[in-house]
Amino acid sequence: MTTNLFCAQSSVAAMPLGGWLGAYLWTCIVFLGACLGSFANVLVYRLPRNLSVVGPRSFCPACGARVAWHDNIPVLSWLLLRGRCRSCGQPIPRRYPVLEMAGAVCLVLGFLRFGLTAQGLAGGLLLQILLVIAVIDWQHMIIPHTLTIAGAAVGLAASFTGVPGWRSSLLGMLCGAGIILAVSYGYRLIRGRMGMGGGDVMMMGMLGTFVGPWGVPAVLFAGALGGTLYAAVWGGRTDDGPAKLPFGTFLALGGGLIYFWGREILAWYLNIF
Ligand SMILES: [Zn+2]
Repeated sequence: MTTNLFCAQSSVAAMPLGGWLGAYLWTCIVFLGACLGSFANVLVYRLPRNLSVVGPRSFCPACGARVAWHDNIPVLSWLLLRGRCRSCGQPIPRRYPVLEMAGAVCLVLGFLRFGLTAQGLAGGLLLQILLVIAVIDWQHMIIPHTLTIAGAAVGLAASFTGVPGWRSSLLGMLCGAGIILAVSYGYRLIRGRMGMGGGDVMMMGMLGTFVGPWGVPAVLFAGALGGTLYAAVWGGRTDDGPAKLPFGTFLALGGGLIYFWGREILAWYLNIF
């Protein structure tokens, strides 16, 4: 395995998938992705509320009625029900079909970028997890450890089949978590309060398993840049100090970008000079 900067892509042969087999396979991928997106909705609702994500079955948050399987088909059910609960008629937030479609897009992107490989699956799952983290951190300012631990497991497992290799993956995890820990403690020494939480530490550790130690600074830079741009345009200060930014949301954006297109972005950047 060559040690590429960032994770880079393995040599992916052009997808040999046309015809009926290809159409069938991509349909399966889209459907599977939409189902994962449906589960993402469960995670987004239940994790911040400390509810179990395995049981009970899906229920309507408004009236508590169980959702039958035929009312739980991604996107389609929402359209057929015209966005309303069958029992109580309360609107089902648009977030549900949107996340389901986004789930399909995540998985398709992973396989398009890295081919029908383990890395393609890992890339798709990473985007799914990042999406859930981005939404939860945006709404609640927390990054559940369940998600980052699951993501780190995916990253480590995938690293055995190719990039960045298991040694880089482990080292990336330590670097990612270590940098945030160091910054956080440094900030506390100077300001007397924590700048970043344990969720950020775990999140950078997880991203490190995907991008390796060389990708970690790039992810941090991309996340910080995104957060700074957001604060400059929409943020601003509240009365009691700077408005708090959901850093995890921007790290998610940076992590996805660097894992998928880190090499291209670096090449483009170096080309400027
Ligand atoms: Zn209902």
